Amino acid sequence: MAERVLRGVAAAAGLALGPVWVHQGDAPAPAASSAAGDPGAERRRFQEAVAAVDRDLERLQAGADPQAREILGAHRLMLADPELHNLVEAGIARGLGAEAAVQEATEQLAALLAGLDDPYLRERAADVRDVGRRLVAALAGRAVGLRLEAPAVVVARDLAPTDTIGVDRRLLLGIVTEQGGPTSHTAILARSWGIPAVVGVPGVLEQVQDGMTVAVDGDAGAVVLEPAPETVQRLEERLRAQAEARAREQAEAGLPAETPDGRRVELAGNAKVPGDVAAAVERGAEAIGLLRSEFLFMGRSAPPDEEEQYQAYAEALRLAGGRRVIIRTLDIGGDKGVPYLGLPREENPFLGVRALRLCFRRPDLFQTQLRALLRAGVHGRLAVMFPMVSTLDDLRQARAALEEARAALAAAGIPHALAPEVGIMIEVPSAALIAHHLAREVDFFSIGTNDLVQYTLAVDRGHPELTGLYQPSHPAVLRLIDEVVRAAHGAGKWVGVCGEMAGDPLGALLLLGLGVDELSMSPPALPAVRRLVRAVPFREAEALARQALACSTAAEVEALVRPVLERVAAG
Ligand code: PEP
Ligand code: MG
Repeated sequence: MAERVLRGVAAAAGLALGPVWVHQGDAPAPAASSAAGDPGAERRRFQEAVAAVDRDLERLQAGADPQAREILGAHRLMLADPELHNLVEAGIARGLGAEAAVQEATEQLAALLAGLDDPYLRERAADVRDVGRRLVAALAGRAVGLRLEAPAVVVARDLAPTDTIGVDRRLLLGIVTEQGGPTSHTAILARSWGIPAVVGVPGVLEQVQDGMTVAVDGDAGAVVLEPAPETVQRLEERLRAQAEARAREQAEAGLPAETPDGRRVELAGNAKVPGDVAAAVERGAEAIGLLRSEFLFMGRSAPPDEEEQYQAYAEALRLAGGRRVIIRTLDIGGDKGVPYLGLPREENPFLGVRALRLCFRRPDLFQTQLRALLRAGVHGRLAVMFPMVSTLDDLRQARAALEEARAALAAAGIPHALAPEVGIMIEVPSAALIAHHLAREVDFFSIGTNDLVQYTLAVDRGHPELTGLYQPSHPAVLRLIDEVVRAAHGAGKWVGVCGEMAGDPLGALLLLGLGVDELSMSPPALPAVRRLVRAVPFREAEALARQALACSTAAEVEALVRPVLERVAAG
């Protein structure tokens, strides 16, 4: 057959080439096996299956990486969900066998989730089905999951979240699924494992068989079936280049980010959930420069309580293995909605009751978070960071709230961090301009360029028609950053950047030259920025930044910096 190219969603970067291994999933239990006898016996079989699956998940959890552990933990919670138990028991009471009752109940719950607006919750339908599938398999005495024996590209309708757990990763070359989106577990796991994946490829299962050669292009979102010899040759060259780049990144991950003339900067990773901390450390992050705690509050129906938050923050600190973890307090509002808080609609959410402003109005939420943070602080090197500070009063009020939480823990004799570092984000122009006042009352600054750019240039950061006007290298932005760096250093404090600009080579070079001490970015950006810092003398970056400050447009700044980046890229 001739070469064919199928398109899907690029879910995890990289290229893979190898034989197909079709994952059929586990066939549903035949309806006949569900014709039940005694409801009491079926109920017992169901309870035994629940216990067996829970033991199985617990065993898998013990050997899994942090991200997989989280997924398995969520499955164990679903397994214990009273709603699931009620539905299954109702099915059994109507005369169904345990298998059919489980299938019906999980399908009903999954359909409910699949019909929701929130894409994150919609994807959770796959988790419910996965739990159901495990239960049915346990009732039939079968095992579940991928059992690869040789290197292969797995093609499946949709991989169940736990299929990939426990698999020998060295044998899993790539993943292609018919269903699933960019936030599905398959996509999330593939990204964190660095396995190329394309999801949402309609009809792929009908066109492949076991052993067929296939290429997965996780950058372009393409799957090539039976590639022609010339294509294979081209792909093999790309694979060699990819392997070389990975080996180089691996070898460099432990190297200090130090310029040839001896200026050291700290390279840190940004994280959304505790599991991201491990991925950042693997890529050589020396710290976590931003853990966006609001993600713990999203995609659910009620806020996490103090205990759940404590566990999550403690996990992040433990995974960081003694490295500093800057946990930012809640930054809800703006583009990050949390429906269950019932916040009123605002005309201008980015200028409204966002972040600290919301926390000051909701001391219940704020105190719970601050207590959890301080308690977790005994497990590692915690730094607390407040977002969206726009006045000195914001900072003082936030610090007072932290002190209130600390005093309450002390009074109750609950162990907690006594004096974590306390910093603020500089992401509002007013804060940048009074940074010399703010600097006296903090341990560090972290510049949030994502917001600083939008507030400085009056350009909504997510506006699809204004992307050209959203210019991190605009001289107005650079001047504010320069002001902040001088203010911090003048007060003997360190200053980092945790906005996207830090992970973009052009931005990173300017920030290095402006004298920033730490750059925190999404982990995949770390290798390129490390290479850049190690290649450009600080003297040169500094001179470049001075010239950039004197420019009148972003285009001028970029024209100044590009040649240096090209020189570095050329090696
Ligand atoms: C920023 O504004 O640069 C930042 C890091 O915060 P967020 O993107 O979460 O608003
Ligand atoms: Mg921000």
